[in-house]
Amino acid sequence: MTHAIAQLAAVVATALFIFSLYWMNDPKTARRGVTAGVIGMLVAVGATWVQPEIVHHGWIVLAIGAGFIVGVPLSRVPLTAVPQRTALSHAFGGLAAGLVGTAEYFLGLGAGGADLTAFRMSAIVAEIILGFLTFTGSLMATGKLQEVRWIPQRPVTYPGQNVVNIGVLVIAVALGVLVAVHPAAAWSARAFLAIVGLALLFGVLLIIPIGGADMPTVISILNSYAGLSAVAMGFVLDNKLLVTAGALDGSSGLILSIIMCRAMNRSFTNVLFGAFGTVKAAAVTGEQKAWKEETVEGAAQLLEQARLVVIIPGYGMAVAQAQHKVRELYDQLTKRGVTVKFAIHPVAGRMPGHMNVLLAEADIPYTALVEMDEINSDMPQCDVALVVGANDVVNPAARYAKDSPIYGMPIIDADKARTVLAIKRSKKPGFAGIDNELYVQDNTWMLFGDAKAVLGDLVRQLTGGSGLH
Ligand code: NAP
Repeated sequence: MTHAIAQLAAVVATALFIFSLYWMNDPKTARRGVTAGVIGMLVAVGATWVQPEIVHHGWIVLAIGAGFIVGVPLSRVPLTAVPQRTALSHAFGGLAAGLVGTAEYFLGLGAGGADLTAFRMSAIVAEIILGFLTFTGSLMATGKLQEVRWIPQRPVTYPGQNVVNIGVLVIAVALGVLVAVHPAAAWSARAFLAIVGLALLFGVLLIIPIGGADMPTVISILNSYAGLSAVAMGFVLDNKLLVTAGALDGSSGLILSIIMCRAMNRSFTNVLFGAFGTVKAAAVTGEQKAWKEETVEGAAQLLEQARLVVIIPGYGMAVAQAQHKVRELYDQLTKRGVTVKFAIHPVAGRMPGHMNVLLAEADIPYTALVEMDEINSDMPQCDVALVVGANDVVNPAARYAKDSPIYGMPIIDADKARTVLAIKRSKKPGFAGIDNELYVQDNTWMLFGDAKAVLGDLVRQLTGGSGLH
């Protein structure tokens, strides 16, 4: 009976996971997608719990309690910290898979090794290699994104690095083949532990040559590894739900990485082996141009008199939590008959969909959000491009500067607008660490300050209020 319930629950949970991913494709249905995913997970945990071999282990309640203690505070991190939070979740997922694989092997060995068939052993070896490398790799990625002091942000490279990395993986896989063929030999347990050690080491080695700017892409690749290790775990435990959920996780992680690589015009191998993110100043051609500032009054006038205003949000809008002020500005301008559009770059911010989430939170109509490819044809007709804390995604150097780390990344053509107003706090570069000539262009005017404060001042100016900061 419990077996039948588990089978039914597996089908229901799998269906919910698939619908969840489908609904999350569109901001209008994304909330429903999250709910479906949560219900699917509850069904999966509930159905696992009622299994006869689990229900009488009362201590499982402790494990669930521990999960809550860690999970609830993790769910409260600010949106800007979601990439590192996600990486931490993958680390836990990888560790769980690695530990289950290790336990299954040693339990089988203790029982004489008869259950450790070549198929089962291959699945266990795949599970521990992927699980443990995901664990340390994701911890390193979390550290880099959180800017932990003792983990270098910049890519750490040395000659022969790729040979060393691939060598470590090849040795782990070769040992894995030996252990799969002779699971109960006198040396197998030691070889098994060596594989665990090599996988843990490989996870660290995999991440150190990758710069902070590529971390979000790497996280989604690690997501895909965690999914694959869950698939292997599903085969080991003969749990179909783990196989399907892991496959969905693995493939969605891979698809997301491909989308992000395309948006940055990078190849997979370039992300993994290219040591992107080296901080270097863009070569300044010709004489150094001056930064020009505009007053809030002047900027408000320019905006009011425009026919088409394109707002280009970036990471700075997320840091300043300025989306609600952006909404107020949008209301003020549309009320005056100005057409206002939002240009959405696929990698603006620090995670895919970052800008969509923030603007949706401020109830900006979806119809006003325009993808990069579509908005670029409007940019020459745009009267004012208002850049709100965006930098790399509007840097014209991406078009021509071959030695720039962002060379080839498609950008939003803010520089083609008649006038550019740019809000940022200082003259510091963005995430890729390079200068941006857009800010010193003849038709660009800076509004220095925190995005929320500057936008607040602009709104007050437009509503005729006082109290500018
Ligand atoms: P960015 O290049 O990091 O620039 C953000 C700008 O916002 C900075 O120049 C900063 O200047 C400004 N800023 C920060 N806090 C601010 C505040 N409180 N008020 C006003 N301005 C503030 O951001 P982006 O243009 O959005 O580009 C995203 C970068 O992340 C790209 O390099 C992209 O490749 C990378 N990336 C993103 C993803 C993703 O999924 N979204 C994935 C991988 C990589 P000040 O310090 O002077 O204020």
